[in-house]
Amino acid sequence: MNRLTSYSNGIHCISLPTPFAVGDVNVHIVESEKLTLIDAGVKTEEAWQVFKNELQHIGYSYTDIEQVVITHHHPDHVGMLDFLSTDIPIFGHRFNRPWITNDEVFFKHHDQFYLDLFVNLGLDEALLEKAAHLKDPLAFNCHRELTHELQEGDKIPGLPGWEVLETPGHAQSHIALYHKENSLLLGGDLLIGHISSNPLFEPPMKGNERPKTLLQYNSSLRKISDLDLDVIYTGHGSIINHATELIKERLHKQEKRAELVLELLKKNGPQTCLQLCQSLFPQVYKREVALTLSETLGQLDYLEEDNYIQVDRTKVPWLFYSI
Ligand SMILES: [Zn+2]
Repeated sequence: MNRLTSYSNGIHCISLPTPFAVGDVNVHIVESEKLTLIDAGVKTEEAWQVFKNELQHIGYSYTDIEQVVITHHHPDHVGMLDFLSTDIPIFGHRFNRPWITNDEVFFKHHDQFYLDLFVNLGLDEALLEKAAHLKDPLAFNCHRELTHELQEGDKIPGLPGWEVLETPGHAQSHIALYHKENSLLLGGDLLIGHISSNPLFEPPMKGNERPKTLLQYNSSLRKISDLDLDVIYTGHGSIINHATELIKERLHKQEKRAELVLELLKKNGPQTCLQLCQSLFPQVYKREVALTLSETLGQLDYLEEDNYIQVDRTKVPWLFYSI
């Protein structure tokens, strides 16, 4: 299996194994003023061996890496940071921090947030137990400090031409790097060719209000669809050459799913998020409770935002009504 793709512009893509359903994850080496690693795979011995091996094929050792930029905090993008020298600068959005440092106070709040949310979405005891496995992937997470915070418009020293775009939705911490002159995007999990990126629900990073992740995600997609892009280097799967068409297709598909949710509400009367999730994903929801609920709640946020539905949040679980 070919795990290395080298491009003539000095970007190399290395595909690394993960223990997750998503399959392999891509990390990128950018040969610039500084040798920069974009994202850092999962923390498994297998991924680390593959990474070192493929690096050797392009003439580097992991000790040659001078800095790392992470696109978001998910374990398949940050785990191997633990294997890199502790003096390498790590760049990323500040919202990565509590996740990658395993901040205890944050995780206490995180656990309570999900428990409250899941109860409000209609989960019973048995499903709550399944949902408790939400944190299992964090076994492959790193324990590392973020040394440099990035925000919209920032440039990264040693990486001329690239600019930071904040692109929340799939993760609150998500950024992409845009090279305007060469029409390139290092896109993380913002847009993936073969699958839709999930607008995962997350605890609020500021204030108390739950971020409406699907709405954020749609506006992040619109933001990059306005750019002139030849290539998107992605966190999973192959590069994307036709971003504008793909974004249009994804937004259309989302709208269709929202219409389906609205039809279900019109047909069946008031429903909980779980009931709607069971109708949308009758086979998958038990296996992937959090993913399918995130997707369903996203559609409900979308419908509420456009005033197609109302939500009674005085009830536990919440009840969603078509207007
Ligand atoms: Zn991700």
